This record gives sequence, structure tokens and C-alpha cells, in this order.
Amino acid sequence: EATVHRSDVIVIGAGPVGLFAIFQLGMARLRCHVVDVLDAPGGQCTALYPEKPIFDIPACPRVLAGDLVDRLLEQAKPFAPTFHLGQRAESLCRTENDTAWRLTTDAGTVLEAPAVLIAAGAGAFGPNRPPLAGIETYEGTSVFYMVSRREALRDKRVVIAGGGDSAVDWALSLSDVAERVMVVHRRAKFRAAPDSVARLQALGESGRIELVTPYQLHGLEGDGQRLEAVVVADLDGATRRLEADILLPFFGLANDLGPISAWGIEVKRHQIPVDPATCATNLPGVFAIGDVASYPGKLKLILTGFSEAAMAAHAAYESVYPGETLHFEHSTTTGLPDAPAPTA
Ligand code: FAD
Repeated sequence: EATVHRSDVIVIGAGPVGLFAIFQLGMARLRCHVVDVLDAPGGQCTALYPEKPIFDIPACPRVLAGDLVDRLLEQAKPFAPTFHLGQRAESLCRTENDTAWRLTTDAGTVLEAPAVLIAAGAGAFGPNRPPLAGIETYEGTSVFYMVSRREALRDKRVVIAGGGDSAVDWALSLSDVAERVMVVHRRAKFRAAPDSVARLQALGESGRIELVTPYQLHGLEGDGQRLEAVVVADLDGATRRLEADILLPFFGLANDLGPISAWGIEVKRHQIPVDPATCATNLPGVFAIGDVASYPGKLKLILTGFSEAAMAAHAAYESVYPGETLHFEHSTTTGLPDAPAPTA
């Protein structure tokens, strides 16, 4: 018999939004257990861009994504959350007496709580691989789907493929350290934050970054581990050879919610529709927040996820204590509430 970990709320996903939810739940004196398939907390911030600065967190003019995660962990710490990392949330059902939700992970951990907050982002991670012959043999030496250390690319010739936020942000960031940065995109227009696109274009005009558009990846040349060149083709099939040491394909994450789609929760286009007033899903006591949640006008930003975490924490209180109202206090009136008593 597996031990059952009981708490007030189960949080699925330890990305920035899941981490801030721990704090908001703590303020409402709700204790939580947190599950994430990754080995470290921080979601996309940790896995995709730990060294990238973020400029749109209120009152933080500039913060590295990795540092933001450290601060969120520090903010959550007084409420002593229990983390179950490296485990995928696999199944969710009601308990036999129908008083709580029971979540089981792929490692066999069993968690029970009256409320569940799903902060699963784009789902369990996996990069979209470009269909290039032999690419696997270069992965880990010359081809990378995420950059964990910018310094490792110092003085390298880097080809970045893609036209979204990751491609544009990394091109800007690496233009300071790499010997050459070439950005391959199949359209002339980039689909990223307008300010970043403007900076990219300015660096393109000054020659600091080479914009190779409209081109697509066509092939790789090298000894099977060390890359010598990336071959690209234009829309008519004419090819060009870009001498390079490193290829960074940024074609997004496979946004597969995986097991979550099988829980009876309504899922539309890889997101969970919620009531924007409470972040409630179609299942009672189950809330969705952050990138995974959708409603009209939704912005997929850390900032909006923080606000949703606050709303969901308040709504979850009523699932944990039916009929009782949470007497709301600002964080400044009395300091932080005491951490709730430990649970199993
Ligand atoms: P995520 O960060 O995606 O975290 C979700 C977590 O849930 C993951 O850790 C995942 O492993 C886990 N998970 C999913 N399914 C399961 C499961 N079944 N079991 C267990 N765990 C599961 N936003 C900004 O506001 N400002 C920026 O400057 C900015 N820059 C960005 C730059 C790049 C390159 C990228 C890719 C994104 C950027 N974003 C930015 C977007 C921002 O990162 C996201 O909005 C944010 O990460 C969403 O947080 P989240 O907690 O909802 O989800």
C-alpha cells in the first residue's frame, strides 16, 4: 500500500505560476503538495531560459529567469510546501468516499486533497525536432534544444532556427558572446515581442546578426558529432551553406497535456478553459492557472499567471472549507500567517 500524502491543495506544475500559487495558498492558510515532472522547480524559466533577463515583472526592472525562480522559492518557503519532483501527474479521480481528489504519479506517489490547482504550462516538456537526416547524432554536442549556459557558446558560430520568442531572445542574448549568430526563419517576419523583433532587426542591419530569411533548414554537414555547416534552402529549393559549430532549433515545445487530457477536464487547443473570475475548470474543486488556462483575452505571461494564482487560491479555499468565507487580509497588515500544521 502506497503512503497517501494528504494536504489541502495539490499543485500540478512547479513553474513560476505554480510556485507563486504556493505563496497565495499559504496566505489563505492552505497547505499544499507540489508535483512536477522536471527534476528542478521553475518550469520554462529553468528549463528553457534560466540566463535570459525578464523585463516585465512588476517592480523588477530586470531579473534573470533563474533568479526569479529562486525568489519565488524563497517567497514560498515560509509555507513549507512538499515537492514531489521528477514525477509526472498521471491520474486524477475522486476518493471512494467522494470527499477529495486523488492524484497518482508515474512513480506511484499518491496525493489526496479537496482542491487541485493545475499549473501545467504547455504540459510535460519535449522539443519539436526538425526533420533533418542524422540530427540525433549531433544532439548534445552540436545541436541543442535549450541553452543552459550562454558561456558555453562563447566564440562559436551559431545558427538559430525559428521565428518565435525563443529564437529571437537567444539571438539577441548570444550576439554578445558568439563569434557569429545566424538566424534562419522561413518567413521575413518574426513572431515575437515587438521590442525584441525591433532589436533583432537593428542588429541585423548593423551586421552583428545575420538574418537568413526566408530559408528553411535543409541538412547538416559534419563528421556525425561535430557540425561543420548547416545547409538551408529557400522556398524554390536553392540551397546555401552556413558554416557553423552549433545549431539551436527553436520550434517550440510539443504542447501535449498528455495524461491531463484524460481526466475528464475540458481541453481546447491544448489549454483548459476556465471561469476567469475563479479559474475554476469544469470539475468541482479543480482550478487551472498560468499558460495552461484559457479565457477570452488571456495573455500567456508570468504576470497574468500570478494574478490567476491569487484568484484560484481564494476560490480553492471554499472547496477546502465549504460554506466558510476567507477573511481576506493584505500581506502588510499582520505579516505572513503562520505555516499551517504539517501534514503527512
Ligand atoms: P510552465 O513554466 O510551463 O511550467 C509548467 C510546469 O508544469 C513545468 O515545469 C512542467 O514540467 C509541469 N508539468 C506539466 N504537466 C505535468 C504533469 N502531467 N505532471 C507533472 N508536471 C507537469 N513570460 C513573461 O512574462 N516575460 C518574459 O520575458 C518571457 N520570456 C519568455 C522567453 C522564452 C524563451 C519563453 C519560451 C517563454 C517566455 N515567457 C515570458 C513565457 C513564460 O515563460 C510563461 O508564461 C511561464 O513559464 C508560464 O508559467 P507556468 O507556471 O504557467 O508554466
